[in-house]
Amino acid sequence: SMGVDSFVNWLRDTAGSLHENAAYLTELDSAIGDADHGANMDRGFQAVVGLLDETTFDSADDLLKKAGMTLVSKVGGASGPLYGTFFLRFGTALAGADLTPETLGKALHAGVEGVLARGKAELGDKTMYDAWAPALDAYDAAVADGADLGTALGAAAEAAAKGRDATIPLVARKGRASYLGDRSAGHQDPGATSTTLILESAARTLP
Ligand code: ADP
Ligand code: MG
Ligand code: MG
Repeated sequence: SMGVDSFVNWLRDTAGSLHENAAYLTELDSAIGDADHGANMDRGFQAVVGLLDETTFDSADDLLKKAGMTLVSKVGGASGPLYGTFFLRFGTALAGADLTPETLGKALHAGVEGVLARGKAELGDKTMYDAWAPALDAYDAAVADGADLGTALGAAAEAAAKGRDATIPLVARKGRASYLGDRSAGHQDPGATSTTLILESAARTLP
């Protein structure tokens, strides 16, 4: 079975990154939303750190499912149920598996399918899915080329960053930003930005 430690490291590193970037994420959300994305993500991942500090987990899927439930209850807003569902489905898909490029890829796909089932976003709607979708494509292409975990996750994080940047000219069609209509264009999506931070953290910690 696979090491729990890699996933503990990922969640702790992500919490640190989201804490450092909380003001930036909130500033992005102040342009096209309600100025709380950084605070939401920071609160949720600090609660995950609290969970890691008080509990020892025997399996990665148990850890990831509890982290997902913590995010659902503590992040709130649109992004809490979306990220919570991501980690719930991601953890469920990893149950009993060894950590390989293939098993991680299946789990990432399962997590993103959960995001889609909940949020019904399509590519180009100016949401976090605009970072997740190119990240999955790049990950799959790297694995098909025989890449190791670090290389595949590095490719996924780079593609997420490009997807994040490509949200700037888009008009939002989901979430609060969609209330602005055409005025949402010209601003980077906060959720695509936090997704990129989460994947950059994965590339640093999981391999
Ligand atoms: P809220 O909008 O409720 O204040 P947050 O500010 O925490 O929640 O999160 C906003 C982000 O959530 C957006 O930038 C977008 O990326 C993401 N989002 C909103 N609605 C959806 C959706 N239906 N599908 C995917 N992502 C979404
Ligand atoms: Mg918001
Ligand atoms: Mg809000």
